[in-house]
Amino acid sequence: MWEGEVMRVAVVGAGPAGLLVGSALAGRGHQVVAVERDAGPPRQGVWARRGVMQFHHAHGFRPQVGQVLQEEWPAAFAAWMALGAEPITFDVPGVGPVHGGHRSRRDTFERALRTTADGVADLSIRQGHVDGVVASGGRVRGIVVDGHSLEADLVVDASGRSGRAADEVRAPASAGGACGMAYVDRQYRLRDGAGPGPMSNPLAWQADLDGYQAVVFLHERGHFSVVLVRPTADAALKGLRSAAAFDAACAAIPGLAEWTDPGRARPVTQVLPGGALYNVYRGQRGIGGGSGLPGLVSVGDAVATTTPTFGRGLAMAFLQVQRLLALLDAEADPAMVGEPFDAWCEDTMLPWVCDHIRIDGDQVRRWQGGDVDLTRRLPSDLILSAAQVDPRIAEASTGYLGMVDLPSCLDPVEPLARAVYESGWRPPRSPGPTRQDLVDLIGAAAGGG
Ligand SMILES: Cc1cc2nc3c(=O)[nH]c(=O)nc-3n(C[C@H](O)[C@H](O)[C@H](O)COP(=O)(O)OP(=O)(O)OC[C@H]3O[C@@H](n4cnc5c(N)ncnc54)[C@H](O)[C@@H]3O)c2cc1C
Repeated sequence: MWEGEVMRVAVVGAGPAGLLVGSALAGRGHQVVAVERDAGPPRQGVWARRGVMQFHHAHGFRPQVGQVLQEEWPAAFAAWMALGAEPITFDVPGVGPVHGGHRSRRDTFERALRTTADGVADLSIRQGHVDGVVASGGRVRGIVVDGHSLEADLVVDASGRSGRAADEVRAPASAGGACGMAYVDRQYRLRDGAGPGPMSNPLAWQADLDGYQAVVFLHERGHFSVVLVRPTADAALKGLRSAAAFDAACAAIPGLAEWTDPGRARPVTQVLPGGALYNVYRGQRGIGGGSGLPGLVSVGDAVATTTPTFGRGLAMAFLQVQRLLALLDAEADPAMVGEPFDAWCEDTMLPWVCDHIRIDGDQVRRWQGGDVDLTRRLPSDLILSAAQVDPRIAEASTGYLGMVDLPSCLDPVEPLARAVYESGWRPPRSPGPTRQDLVDLIGAAAGGG
């Protein structure tokens, strides 16, 4: 029906997934309108982006993000490089140089996408709020934007993890919920001539402490983010949101103190408290769990959201977009792609969400004093940690770490990891303040002490 014809496409949300799918479909000759509630980047100053809570928070960019961008939208990739994104390469013994993705701030990444999108013929980005989806005759007919209808043959819901635009026609999430972890972070920049601080691996510095975690994410041009992660339920650590407490914590944690030493780096944002973090999967099904509305497809975080601890979100979003484009290329009627796309997402995206649900739930339990639970399959992070004792685990984990194999690739080495834990070994804790020390630091900072 649509072969060779121009489709009218409405995209809900002009975040990374919406812009990529919108530009790619416009590049195939379709008429695309992407509707975004936030304004685009200002010529100068901070791009507020209230529609995306995590916009100014630390982002790592896995290799898949740059790869898909180069394949589907090379102009945006070039713009990202021109704005300073830095390719990461590191040596793996016995393998040679390995591409580790890119260093960039999310702001830099999205500016590249958005400014490139503004120049794409047949893609128009309209500011407005999508109130809902219009359907009749058993298929999608368009969307409602600020009370006015916009007709479309294909509606792509790229509204992110908190998007509600398709709620009246789409089944709620089938897996997951709040992950039990909360976040504060802050961006810094190295002073002129100052080198980076210590690294725990080629991509980041990380410390696993008593009841919480600290991570340094590197971005482009000397920018970096410090992230402190804690159990949401640990209300006493909420005080890390204050600049004085955050500074005191950074100064007390070995390694992090070097990164944030005022002689090496200066903060370039306030301390940014994160909103709730989720691991959620929401497929393409319709209300009641039956087939989805033909002509409506959800993509990106609107389908699969994972906590940021492994930096998977954008890679998952872009892999989804690439798959969706391949299905649309092969299928004459866009109403037919929902089901095969749903099946693919269930096979390749849902396992990552389930993996995170297990990792995060168990991490929070251990942060609160629990021991390694040997009565069920070990969560993937514990399997990886056991490679410190049994190197055969490391050999098997590269596909998992690179996200080129599904989490089940760790199943064959789970018994090896189990044997490590059965021997009594536990992952060593990084040196630094205990959770109670941190509570005391927060109290002292609040009292000006
Ligand atoms: C704290 C945090 C840190 C993260 N760190 C990483 C990381 O290190 N690496 C990584 O790969 N991923 C990370 N992620 C995940 C990543 O941010 C998401 O995967 C990514 O934003 C998904 O892109 P998206 O386009 O699907 O959705 P979004 O970026 O959420 O974009 C959705 C867009 O839709 C718009 N919208 C929603 N509803 C409407 C409506 N009704 N009308 C109009 N517009 C609407 C929103 O304003 C928004 O612009 C992190 C997430 C969090 C929460």
